[in-house]
Amino acid sequence: MDSKCKEIQLLLMDIHYGECKMSEETAGHLAECPDCQACWQEMQEMKEILAPLDFEPELKHADIDHALLRAEKKETVFELLQFAVVSLAYLVLMFVVFRMMKPHYYLYYQGFLYLTLPLFSLPLILRRIRKGDSHG
Ligand SMILES: [Zn+2]
Repeated sequence: MDSKCKEIQLLLMDIHYGECKMSEETAGHLAECPDCQACWQEMQEMKEILAPLDFEPELKHADIDHALLRAEKKETVFELLQFAVVSLAYLVLMFVVFRMMKPHYYLYYQGFLYLTLPLFSLPLILRRIRKGDSHG
């Protein structure tokens, strides 16, 4: 196989994969050269054999949307649970302070609440902000 055949067979491969069209020069060489004809013939046969496998898998957009929606719902439930746990912890702490300690400790608790509540709810707020960003 000479260098011209090598060149033509590389071109034939490009033509086979639809990357370029058959030029007159390539067609002329193909008509005269048995080696290149055999190569082209093999490529055509391979194309026919592989034709049944050449298809795009069907995407089920409805299923994908459904899965995304379910994931979003789960996330919302998780956020609600987080919020409920934090709120419950504050309520329990308030009752403990009321029952076990002297009434003026309630003022300390109130101060504690005002100072710490923003810190404890920060992760929830940040998550909400990030979620808002990702939705546009
Ligand atoms: Zn050739």
